[in-house]
Amino acid sequence: MKRIGVLTSGGDAPGMNAAIRAVVRSAIYNGVEVYGIRRGYAGLLARDFVEMSLGSVGDIIHRGGTILRTARSEEFKTKEGMEKAVNNIKQLGIEGLVVIGGDGSFRGAAELAKRGVPTIGIPGTIDNDIPFTDYSIGFDTAVNTVVEAVNKIRDTATSHERTFIIEVMGRESGHIALYSGVACGAETILVPEKPYTIKGVCDKIMSGYKRGKLHSIIILAEGAGNAFEVGQKIKEMTGLETRVIVLGHLQRGGTPTAFDRILASQMGGKAVELLLNGVSDKMIGWVKGELVVTDLEKIFSAQKPLNEELYNLASVLAI
Ligand code: ADP
Repeated sequence: MKRIGVLTSGGDAPGMNAAIRAVVRSAIYNGVEVYGIRRGYAGLLARDFVEMSLGSVGDIIHRGGTILRTARSEEFKTKEGMEKAVNNIKQLGIEGLVVIGGDGSFRGAAELAKRGVPTIGIPGTIDNDIPFTDYSIGFDTAVNTVVEAVNKIRDTATSHERTFIIEVMGRESGHIALYSGVACGAETILVPEKPYTIKGVCDKIMSGYKRGKLHSIIILAEGAGNAFEVGQKIKEMTGLETRVIVLGHLQRGGTPTAFDRILASQMGGKAVELLLNGVSDKMIGWVKGELVVTDLEKIFSAQKPLNEELYNLASVLAI
């Protein structure tokens, strides 16, 4: 294998740069050239390539975002788009492709593999909603970002004896909400995987106030309801002053945590190793402390379960 490509696709996540760095350095170490493809599959179609040197990935391990930038491309999903992508890859002499992204990006990678392009997926999304890996790159950083924000909110919540509803990202999953909620000692964690009633939430807040709690922190996953509606209903039912904060895109940015940098570095190195060994159409996961390789196809029909044990513990601790 003489030359491989690497791209980041879909939503960005802190730690993607560390993964790019690891792919580039591991490949060059093994005598393989690397082309960076800018703006994901859109750049693949537009032939937006750059040859990566050892120095091109210097000074990026600590930076959030992705130096290759990312994009979404509808054209790539079409038959013509896919053919164009395969032609561009072949013309450039790229013999293997590392795709750093989420579920959608992996579907694209699987389609390329079917057309004879060896591909390896690295899970990069703050949502942590990809099955067959305990963690995806960016999740740990996003959780830490939420925790820092909630620490600040807690100060003012206590002073004013207010109920705060803090909406966090996660699309249809509650992983960010659950992990950050436990780390913040939130009174209530609302996730799409678990049904809840506003009355149940209000009863819990009121019992807390009765035993002298000065404030209440509710962490709401974006897929579990509209924070402003939840806040309004709680106010109507309890008469308490509520405040709503939607943390939004600040969860996507920031310098990656050591955990994310190490995870990304290991996955990047492994991706190159797999391509060199002729492996294709797989995703690298991190399961119980070890790198695990899974068929891309298996990912599309599976769901990433919420950590039940942690969810149950959260309820116990927030009694
Ligand atoms: P993520 O990878 O974060 O889940 P998206 O779902 O937006 O992000 O997917 C990123 C890109 O992957 C899309 O813009 C598209 O180009 C490509 N993609 C998504 N789904 C498919 C599919 N079923 N077949 C081929 N390519 C796809």
